[in-house]
Amino acid sequence: MIEARPALSPLPITRIAAVPLMGESPPGGWSSEIRAEDPIHTLIAVHTAAGITGHGSAFAPGPLVEAAVAQLEPLFLGENALEPERVSEKLHQNSFWFGRGGTLTHAISGIDIALWDILGKATGLSVGRLVGGRHRDRVMPYCSLLMDMPGPMAEAVARHAAQGFRAFKIGWGPFGRRDDARLDAAIVDDALSALPPGGKLFVDAGGSDAYWPNGLKWALYTADMLAERGVGWFEEALRPDALEDFVTLRRQARLPIAGGEVLTRRQAFLPFLAAGAFDIVQPDVTKVGGLSEQRRIVWMAQDFGVRYVGHGWNTALGLAADLQLAGAFPGVDLVEYIGGSAYVDDLAAKPFGLDADGMLAIPDAPGLGVALDPARVARYAPRADQLFAG
Ligand SMILES: [Mg+2]
Repeated sequence: MIEARPALSPLPITRIAAVPLMGESPPGGWSSEIRAEDPIHTLIAVHTAAGITGHGSAFAPGPLVEAAVAQLEPLFLGENALEPERVSEKLHQNSFWFGRGGTLTHAISGIDIALWDILGKATGLSVGRLVGGRHRDRVMPYCSLLMDMPGPMAEAVARHAAQGFRAFKIGWGPFGRRDDARLDAAIVDDALSALPPGGKLFVDAGGSDAYWPNGLKWALYTADMLAERGVGWFEEALRPDALEDFVTLRRQARLPIAGGEVLTRRQAFLPFLAAGAFDIVQPDVTKVGGLSEQRRIVWMAQDFGVRYVGHGWNTALGLAADLQLAGAFPGVDLVEYIGGSAYVDDLAAKPFGLDADGMLAIPDAPGLGVALDPARVARYAPRADQLFAG
């Protein structure tokens, strides 16, 4: 007879630290461009009485996340860190008057990821096993690059192909912003010319940029251009709230239509999925409410017959969470990987490495399976010690 193990004792949360990264913030191709010193990615540490610390990542400027953590403190202090969904939902439910779906939700995302990391460390299981199981042990990363003019565009693709990447996404920058359809096509042709054999290319218009100038006709015309070239998907081709136009675009375009990176909370995805706005939905685990929320969005997408490819434009810890989700669900074949970001390549104790097939291993160690290196983090965060103090 097998004896049941006793339940783990509660693990009270003693402190949550928010530590912004700065100095190497990668440009986003935004019309009001991010500067290297802008702290737009913030690491989170949830500390517990038992000495187990969990780590997460929130896509939001440091001062906003710090303020959110201070606001949420009475709700999380003393809470049991072994119950990520209940604790995160408590934070959502008791704070939504102050910014539901905004920076508070982004901050809770980082806390939620850290809580799952703790649950994994306490139980000895990877987060992927906890949220769904282990469908695969590796996944293809696609290298995410900013659009550039023909010439430099191909050089950037070739440089990253030489590092082993097989799939690429190019986006933002001049694309769709110069009122020049020939330039848009020339940029795509330039990137295609540098793909490795059998390589894939995806295109991101970046329609969530400020004052995105194009509408449905541009999106339809451009979708034709991309379909003729065998591009794998067309992302954010419209302003993010243009639900009806997304539905029309998806029906008429010959290539898959992707979007949803700026939506937060599962409730915001429901109308887009129900209306048939996307072929591919792209929630971002560092914005939507963390793993607790993203796993529900992934299931919702499955129920609507929509493909899930996580949006991952953040940090090594965001990628770690994406990898766990990629292992935990059927049919996930890609994760996003920012090309040349120190916050992805240079924070982990064991850097991410591509295998000979251009694939990334999905860690199976307890929690997120990606440990921060204190000395590396300290290069981008003056207060890095707050992430590791017990
Ligand atoms: Mg995008």
